[in-house]
Amino acid sequence: MDENFRDSIGTINEEGKRAWVFPKKPVGIFYKYRKWVSYFLLIFLLASPFIKINGNQFLMFNILERKFSIFSFPFWPQDFHIFVIMMLVGVVFIVVFTVAFGRVFCGWMCPQTIFLEMVFRRIEYWIEGDRGKQIKLSKQEWNSEKIKKRLLKWFIFFLISFIIANVFLAYLIGSDTLIFDILDGPTNHISTLISLLIFTGVFYFVFAWFREQVCIIACPYGRLQGVLLDNKSIIVAYDHKRGEGDKGRSKFKKNENREELGKGDCVDCSLCVKVCPTGIDIRNGTQLECINCTACIDACDSIMVGVGYPKGLIRYASEEEIEKKRMFEITPRLKGYIAVLVILLGVLIGMLFLRNNVEASILRLPGQLFEHKENNIISNVYTFKLVNKTSEDIENVEFRLISHEGTIKLVSHNSFVVPAQGLAEGTLFIEVNASTLSGDKDRVEIGVYSGEELIETTSTSFLGPRSYR
Ligand code: SF4
Ligand code: SF4
Repeated sequence: MDENFRDSIGTINEEGKRAWVFPKKPVGIFYKYRKWVSYFLLIFLLASPFIKINGNQFLMFNILERKFSIFSFPFWPQDFHIFVIMMLVGVVFIVVFTVAFGRVFCGWMCPQTIFLEMVFRRIEYWIEGDRGKQIKLSKQEWNSEKIKKRLLKWFIFFLISFIIANVFLAYLIGSDTLIFDILDGPTNHISTLISLLIFTGVFYFVFAWFREQVCIIACPYGRLQGVLLDNKSIIVAYDHKRGEGDKGRSKFKKNENREELGKGDCVDCSLCVKVCPTGIDIRNGTQLECINCTACIDACDSIMVGVGYPKGLIRYASEEEIEKKRMFEITPRLKGYIAVLVILLGVLIGMLFLRNNVEASILRLPGQLFEHKENNIISNVYTFKLVNKTSEDIENVEFRLISHEGTIKLVSHNSFVVPAQGLAEGTLFIEVNASTLSGDKDRVEIGVYSGEELIETTSTSFLGPRSYR
C-alpha cells in the first residue's frame, strides 16, 4: 500500500496551506442515531448550568473561586482530593474506553463534534447546500448570491457562538452570577462582558474556520490515540481483505463476476472519502485524523446495498478481527486498566460517603500555653473555622466537648449561624478540669451541634500541666 498519506494530514495541501474540507451530508442509520444522541447531549450541555438541585448548580467549574458543583454535589477547596480522584476516574475511564472502543467518544459525545457536525455544519448545508454546491459557491465570484449566503451564515454562526459563550461562562462563574450581570447591565460588569466577547470570538473561530483542525492538531486526547489503540481495539475500520480481494478495488461494472476475477468488494466510488469531515480515506487504515464519526460506514453501506453486496465493508471492527476473523476479547492490558478503574472508583465512593456537608477545624492559637484557673480548671485558646457546603444556613451552631468533661466558651456569643455555602470563623476557649487530663497533651473530641443535632465532630490537642495526676 502507498504509505505517503502518513507523511501529511488530509486538511493541509502540498504548499502547506489549508485544504478546506467539504464533506458530503451524511445519511444513514448511524447518522440518525448520532443525531438523537447529540440532541440529548446538546440539551444536557446547554441546560446543565441552569438546573439547580437543593440550590446547587447541576454542573459548575468555577476555577477562579475554586468552587465546583458536579451533579449538584458542591465541592469546596477542602474537597480538592475528591475532585482530583474524580478527574483521575474520568481519565482512566476514557483510557479504558479508548483501548476497547477506540475514539467512540470523539464521534458520538465530544462537544466539539456535536456542535460542529450537528449544529454548524447542518446550518451550512441548509444555507449553502450539499458538498457540490458548497464547492461551487466557494469557487464562484463574490456576487450577490455568495455575499447573501455567506453573510447569513456568518451572522447565524456568530449568534450561536454568542449563545455557547454565555453557557460556557455560566459553567465558569455560575449561572446566577451571569444572569445577575446581564440583568444589571453588561457595562456595570465589564469583566463579564469582555469574557463573553472573547469566548464568542474563540467559538466563532473554532466552528467557522478552525473546525476539524481542533481534533487533528489541538486536542490532546486525539494525540493520545496512537499510544492507546492496539490491533484489538474496536474502531471504524475498512475491511481491506474483503474490499481489496486479490486484485484490488475497481469500479463497479454490471453483470461482472468480481469474485471470479479476484476483485474486492470496494467499487472505488470514493463516497467514504467525500463524506469524511476530516478529509481522509479510511481505506488507508487507522489514521490519526479519524474521529470515528461513522459517516463513512453509512456511506459505504448505502453503496453496498445499491450494488447488492452485504453491508459492513466499513464497520466497527478491530484490526485483528479483520485480519484473523477473531472476535473482540478482553486483553491483559485492558484487564489492568479495568482493575485500576475499579480501585479508583472504590476510593471515590468511599470518599463521597465519608464526606461531610460541614467541615470543622479547631486549632490551638500558635504560641499560646494553657492557663491554670480557679478550681483546678485548665483553659486553652483556639481559633475555629466552620465551612457550610450546603445551600442552606445552619442555625444555632454551638460546640460541645465529647471526650472530656468541661466547657467550650465562644468569644462574644454562645451560638451562631453558618451561612449557606459560606463559612464562620472565630475564637473559643476549652476549659477542662485538670484531674480529668491524662497527660500534658490530650486529644479532645468536640461535637458541632445545630440545636440538638450533631452535625460534625472534630478533635484538637489540649495542653495541660505535666503529670498532674
Ligand atoms: S474515516 Fe470515517 S469515521 Fe473516520 S472521520 Fe472519516 S468519515 Fe468519520
Ligand atoms: S464507499 Fe465503500 S465502496 Fe465506495 S470507495 Fe468507500 S469503501 Fe469503496
